[in-house]
Amino acid sequence: MPGLGLRLECPRGPPRQARAAYDHGMHLLVVEDEDSIAEPLVEGLRDEGFEVTRVATGQEAIDAPPADLVLLDVRLPDIDGFAVCRELRARSGVPIIMVTAKGEEIDRVVGLELGADDYVVKPFGLRELVARIRAVTRRTSERPESRHTLVAGPVEVDVPARRATIGGRELKLTLKEFDLLALLASQPGVVIERERILREVWNTTWYGSSKTVDVHVAALRKKLGDPTLIETVRGVGLRLRV
Ligand code: CA
Repeated sequence: MPGLGLRLECPRGPPRQARAAYDHGMHLLVVEDEDSIAEPLVEGLRDEGFEVTRVATGQEAIDAPPADLVLLDVRLPDIDGFAVCRELRARSGVPIIMVTAKGEEIDRVVGLELGADDYVVKPFGLRELVARIRAVTRRTSERPESRHTLVAGPVEVDVPARRATIGGRELKLTLKEFDLLALLASQPGVVIERERILREVWNTTWYGSSKTVDVHVAALRKKLGDPTLIETVRGVGLRLRV
């Protein structure tokens, strides 16, 4: 299908492997203004067992009921995808996968810094997208520390409920800020190496993304209200003070 943003691969292919439990009934919000991309995409995702709501504008995305994951096009007719990402992030930790066009690498970095969890580049295949949806879902729900409440001084992180408080005050964190805090709170007082942070929170070992860590740490410190709680150990990593 030349000219389409989506390549459907093997739509009537061999029987699929059993789906992981987290796919069942998972509700996706697809934000895409172009019908020629959105229609086959929605159909393909429904065939994969997802519940899908599709909207065509940024405002509709902001007004939509909460979903389990948002697939968000960057180029929308009203509000751009980054502003939508920022707005969604301001009120929930819902996983967000940004959809960019070729040659928009800068946009992609901006998107990740705004709290998007991943990105796909058009044209992308349904299989690649489903793999990314699963990876993002796994990353956000299956970390070892996601099995209990972590307490580090005034900070409490209820990982299964994805709630964090400081001195009883609820923190409104983005997904990455939450994951970062949960990782630091899993070993209070211990320096967590930058390499491990990148691997466990961002699923990468690309050192170029260190700046992304700094951006999230700065935002997290601000929300904690005490910039000394997270200590930077130069050249090594970060430590949550106890
Ligand atoms: Ca578009």
